[in-house]
Amino acid sequence: MNILLLGSGGREHAFAWKIASSPKCGKLFVAPGNAGTAAIAENVAIAVTDFEKLAQFCTDQSVDMMVVGPEEPLVKGIVDYFKNNPAVAHIPVVGPSQKGAQLEGSKDFSKQFMQRHGIPTAASKTFTKDSLEEGIAYLQSQGLPIVLKADGLAAGKGVLICQTYEEATESLKEMLVDAKFGDASSKVVIEQFLQGIELSVFVATDATSYRILPEAKDYKRIGEQDTGLNTGGMGAVSPVPFADGSFLKKVAERVVIPTIKGLEMENIPYTGFLFIGLMNMNGDPYVIEYNVRMGDPETEAVLPRIKSDFVDLLFSMGTLHLDEYQLEIHSHTATTVVMVAGGYPGAYEKGHEITGLTSIADPAKAIAFHAGTTTGTKGEVLTNGGRVIAVTGLGESMEEALNHAYEAVNHINWKDQYHRRDIGQDLKIYH
Ligand code: AMP
Repeated sequence: MNILLLGSGGREHAFAWKIASSPKCGKLFVAPGNAGTAAIAENVAIAVTDFEKLAQFCTDQSVDMMVVGPEEPLVKGIVDYFKNNPAVAHIPVVGPSQKGAQLEGSKDFSKQFMQRHGIPTAASKTFTKDSLEEGIAYLQSQGLPIVLKADGLAAGKGVLICQTYEEATESLKEMLVDAKFGDASSKVVIEQFLQGIELSVFVATDATSYRILPEAKDYKRIGEQDTGLNTGGMGAVSPVPFADGSFLKKVAERVVIPTIKGLEMENIPYTGFLFIGLMNMNGDPYVIEYNVRMGDPETEAVLPRIKSDFVDLLFSMGTLHLDEYQLEIHSHTATTVVMVAGGYPGAYEKGHEITGLTSIADPAKAIAFHAGTTTGTKGEVLTNGGRVIAVTGLGESMEEALNHAYEAVNHINWKDQYHRRDIGQDLKIYH
């Protein structure tokens, strides 16, 4: 089977690595890809939002399936574009329709969806510029801290947790009146703050059947002990020791099943991955957010734990036969450490040569997934983004997985490289 994968991050390198390991994979193309995907697939210089060129490429190269990694093309309607284009309408695409992608593309839509289907989530109300005064009155009637969320995609920056009413009122004005996040904050969801511990659950679905993939916990802040600025993610661990069988059963019954049924009832075509950000509050799950694709770096910890054939999983989703797929999961632990460019998430340099990537001897112990990398003129691997390499360690225990991950990380380097040394440390109390 010839497969086209869209994206260029660590998530897509992990997808490409998993797809390429399947005997079902024929030619694998990645648009646009990175230096890691170039080593196991053919990179194609087409932007993920250039639907016309992607469709033409699929026709020219007899692509049998397309897999969409990031949210942007989904929210912009790539799946609908392919379905409505007779030349490529027959190609199974793994990714939700534009309507389904609203679960991530609009916080207001996703909150209303959860309310319609009785899915546990924080109480909230949505306001616009015209209802600013009501918004201020509403937030002042709520407890502190209070959460303000820009409705649209804001590159992961659109959520503010405010500790005082003054700060919340000021931020609400900035978002609605001064368009702090552009169009994305023309609507703002004001939401109750949930106290608990966060984790993410990943679901593969064709909107009728579903399979729950391994859960993961990620590390969002740049500094150790989760301090400093928010990032795209500095590490991940799967499985999550505080998510025991009884908690995951509640997640399936109260969140996953009503979500899939809700999509079906509302006739929202959804073939793809659903990433559910959850708060565990005293053993009960509450949804913080939906994302309509896999997470990065969680994917780098989740995919190595999938034992059954991954191309079969994708194809059964794409052809709406997921009910026939037997998902098998490895019992081992995967821990991912993200290595970033010095200065990230602020300004950082690009173009530094990365050394030590070939020092990983045993892929059963550690794998280096490329995120922001590119190939130099002499074939060397250069840094090309903030998050550069995601190293996943595997082991029978979390301790062993972390040892394998950090052993590999210690061999990889470039000028001003930084990573957190404390991934997984907070989870040791659960073991
Ligand atoms: P989101 O973009 O919705 O995932 O929000 C980003 C982060 O803000 C989440 O991962 C949480 O850490 C935090 N957050 C969002 N909503 C809430 C909430 N209602 N209560 C507490 N923390 C929240």
